[in-house]
Amino acid sequence: MSPDGTRKEDPRTIVWFDIDNTLYSASTKISQAMGQRIHAYFVTLGLDEDEASELHHSYYTQYGLALRGLTRHHNIDPMDFDRKCDGTLPLDDLIKPDPGLRKLFQDLDRTKVRVWALTNAYKTHAQRVLKILDLEDQIEGLVYCDYQQIGFTCKPEPDYYHNAMKQANISDPSKCYFVDDSQLNVRSAKKLGWGHCVHFCEAGLEIVDGGKTKKLVLDTNTNDPESIRQISDLEELRTLWPEIFV
Ligand SMILES: [Mg+2]
Repeated sequence: MSPDGTRKEDPRTIVWFDIDNTLYSASTKISQAMGQRIHAYFVTLGLDEDEASELHHSYYTQYGLALRGLTRHHNIDPMDFDRKCDGTLPLDDLIKPDPGLRKLFQDLDRTKVRVWALTNAYKTHAQRVLKILDLEDQIEGLVYCDYQQIGFTCKPEPDYYHNAMKQANISDPSKCYFVDDSQLNVRSAKKLGWGHCVHFCEAGLEIVDGGKTKKLVLDTNTNDPESIRQISDLEELRTLWPEIFV
């Protein structure tokens, strides 16, 4: 603490990792399992299958997360939603620790960079995934969607990134490195001046997003100087960001 009570800023840069479909492959089909559970939750509100799909998708499109629509328009307990949707995912059967990924984290030069996770999930799910992947001790800080807070924000809303920077006590966005499987999330970060944004894209695989299945495709407009680097393997970060690896 400095004399005026503010925390002294850490001079190191910071690398933010998204968790779901970034630290593990979309081929695990966890997004499909998640989508089924969210759909079932909508059905418990008294909707038929089609209405449930429609409302799920419309909340997702409008609010970024189905849960944000549910908390606004229905009398539901967000923690009950979390327990029934993310909480029942058989993650132990779907993901395994990856020694190569752990080594990648260990090779990040901690004298130069802090390593944080930035997720749209609640902390319980995020911590569960990190534990199964054997990465818990590699992540210094976690920014998650606080479902318990009324009107909580999420990626890609600018407020979410601003809050993340506040939590990590970093004021210069150009010192932020960021990798996420959502192009929207990465674009939003780049717009806010985050210095080193990378889109993790496993082209050809399918995910369920907002209740709809979509095929992952690379952004082909790579001549655009504003285009964001795309990778299909996190190992590529070593070559893209050599300055933060040992
Ligand atoms: Mg993700």
